[in-house]
Amino acid sequence: MTAPITELDIQGATCAGCVRKIENALRAVPGVEKAEMNFATHSAAIEGDVGSDTLIAAVRGAGYDASLPIVEADSRVDEALEQERLQAHYKKLIRDMSLALGFGVPLMLWGAFGDRISGGDSMMVTAGTLGQLAWTVVGILTLAILMFAGGHFFRGAWHAFKHHNATMDTLIAVGTGSAWLYSIVVVLLPDILPMTARHVYFEASAMIIGLINLGLVLEIRVRGKTSKAIKRLLDLRPKTAHVLRADAEMDLAIEQVVIDDIIRARPGERIAVDGEVLDGDSYIDESMLSGEPMPIHKKKGDTVAAGTINQSGTLTYRATRIGRDTALARIIELVKKAQGAKPSIGRLADSIAAVFVPTVLLIATAAALLWFNFGPAPAVAHMLIAATTVLIIACPCALGLATPMSVMVGVGKAAEAGVLIQRGEALQTAGQLDVIVLDKTGTITEGKPAVIEIFSIDGNEQQVLHLAACIEQYSEHPLASAIVRAASGKNTKPKPAGNFTAHNGRGVSAQLDDKTLLLGNRRWLEQQDIDCSALQNAEQKITEQAGTPLFLAQVVAEQKQLLGVIGVADHIKADSRAAIERLHKRGLTVVMLTGDIEASARAIAQAVGIDRVFAEVLPENKAAKITEFQLQNKKVGMVGDGINDAPALASANVGFAIGTGTDIAIESADITLMRGSLHGVADAIEISQATLRNIKQNLFGAFIYNIVGIPVAAGALYPLFGLLMSPVLAGAAMSLSSVTVITNANRLRLFRAGSPSTAQTATGQVPAKTSEHAA
Ligand code: ADP
Ligand code: MG
Repeated sequence: MTAPITELDIQGATCAGCVRKIENALRAVPGVEKAEMNFATHSAAIEGDVGSDTLIAAVRGAGYDASLPIVEADSRVDEALEQERLQAHYKKLIRDMSLALGFGVPLMLWGAFGDRISGGDSMMVTAGTLGQLAWTVVGILTLAILMFAGGHFFRGAWHAFKHHNATMDTLIAVGTGSAWLYSIVVVLLPDILPMTARHVYFEASAMIIGLINLGLVLEIRVRGKTSKAIKRLLDLRPKTAHVLRADAEMDLAIEQVVIDDIIRARPGERIAVDGEVLDGDSYIDESMLSGEPMPIHKKKGDTVAAGTINQSGTLTYRATRIGRDTALARIIELVKKAQGAKPSIGRLADSIAAVFVPTVLLIATAAALLWFNFGPAPAVAHMLIAATTVLIIACPCALGLATPMSVMVGVGKAAEAGVLIQRGEALQTAGQLDVIVLDKTGTITEGKPAVIEIFSIDGNEQQVLHLAACIEQYSEHPLASAIVRAASGKNTKPKPAGNFTAHNGRGVSAQLDDKTLLLGNRRWLEQQDIDCSALQNAEQKITEQAGTPLFLAQVVAEQKQLLGVIGVADHIKADSRAAIERLHKRGLTVVMLTGDIEASARAIAQAVGIDRVFAEVLPENKAAKITEFQLQNKKVGMVGDGINDAPALASANVGFAIGTGTDIAIESADITLMRGSLHGVADAIEISQATLRNIKQNLFGAFIYNIVGIPVAAGALYPLFGLLMSPVLAGAAMSLSSVTVITNANRLRLFRAGSPSTAQTATGQVPAKTSEHAA
């Protein structure tokens, strides 16, 4: 049993260092098993049987604030509120930024060019002059700017201080605050300082506040863009439906549709809720859900999914799933969750960020002491510049954005390709796989097998098929539906049988009148002491066509008798071969794992270019095979249809479930391939590698600013070149580092995985159709 998960919105987290503190505070709560915070979405997911009040209290105790996310019956409202909140925040930041820069830029220009007017150092203050009075006014105005436009940094720093914390706000507040404090001392009491140190830095304080606000503004802008993948999915939700009630058609808001309502969809309209077609004949474009570009033919009895587009005919369908239960709603939920997840590389960044702020405070202090004691005159001024600059340039906000930004884009990218990443960790691991294990039926093949041959001992093939259908009508297995379909094609109606038993991976049995019927593979029947050698030739004929031979036998009063054999074969998916080739190109070993017999398995393996085949593997042993590879130090991805492959999917490093668009078998898998195609595996791997590369670039980008910036800011270049970085430049650089990271993460948006349909969904255009479905 898994513990319940609580989601919280987190407020007041300003830097990557906060993430660790909040996570630790949450983990310290008794009963919490897992706590993860996402800096990009400002939310946390907590696993454990603990009340939300306790969790919120824990976050408050760490110096931040938390609240339960606003949940509405309709997530559309949710989205609108969120958007509104973000807009207000965005506007405030823009105002703060304009104010600070509007004041800081002229002041800086005065500092740069004013000496020509004033005929001396324009930022120097001399006691008892008009200048001193003017500077006093400027000082007060700067203070107002700091309090008004930069108030959130100071409040954050104070809040952190009260909780014995130091955050990015601390660095900014201490940096700009000390620059202002020094300057105001210069203005009011210039005489206590040596001549050379009577320089003011008001413009630095204002500029830094302005530039950092600018960085935050840009961050919000790009963050808004990143959730486009989600927005696009949200936009798929139709708002109304034509509901037929009491023989009249009425247009109802989607929220009013109830299960079992009869709904009409005209050509060109979106399907309103998930349902089952009652009447009509049409093609439906499901590409938005499954990534499958070809419209799917729908007739009575087929399922339709909310958000897909009805193309040619009018359909009436019965609502089977509404609201949050539709496939679309579940996909949105999944993508949201995965976008907030944190692969382990992100945790590394968090732990670095957590020690970062205290370390920087130490470096700043050390630099200040060095400058004061050993630096050239004016020592106090130099000391101040160095310490302030170190504090400002070291803000690790870019570090905190590095991973979540890329994950967001990567997960969205994958969703566009019909690859649903359900665990964030899978996004990282998928790119590191060595072996891909494929299930045969339904994975490499279409999963829609058909009967190709029937042989009977006594010549009555019709009877063999009929008896087989009597058992198989109760089975869910794809082989079973092939037999039932073939029987109904021959107009034999299966009789009700009793005592149906599915022998997993072996066969099926049932009781019909006085006899027990057994249908399954040869090995299983021989274990039941039924000799199958009489049909050896027939069996060979079937396996030569890559078919699966299913032997039928009956037991009447201890009397065992072989009746016949049915050959069932499945089409190989048209693109399986190409997809496997893509995997080979990436250096992966591709393995087939199947319960089917060796000969049939080999025939298929050969056709698609599989490296190794493990046949006649019982479902319960599939997971063990995966572990065997893992013991050889291989990372294994398992692809299966998720029915009897569940244990293997769970034990693989990455489990890929083949979900057929609307009906997603998702529980035990890490990634669901909504398009049936194996190209999804290659897409997932390529997107994973691209995302990881992107994260690494981001981390490098974030760190390089700090690693190069901090020593330069501390004055490392001064002894050799006489260079000392100005605090304003540091403020600009640190905004730039966030912008670099975000821009780089957005570059990932342009990435295209190699499969034809991915390229299609990325541009939103109809593709030049490749010869899928040709077979
Ligand atoms: P796969 O690994 O290809 O998914 P399974 O493990 O489901 O195969 O089944 C393995 C073998 O067991 C089949 O090839 C077939 O011989 C036999 N079998 C399983 N289910 C049935 C069934 N419903 N009817 C007849 N044979 C079955
Ligand atoms: Mg299977």
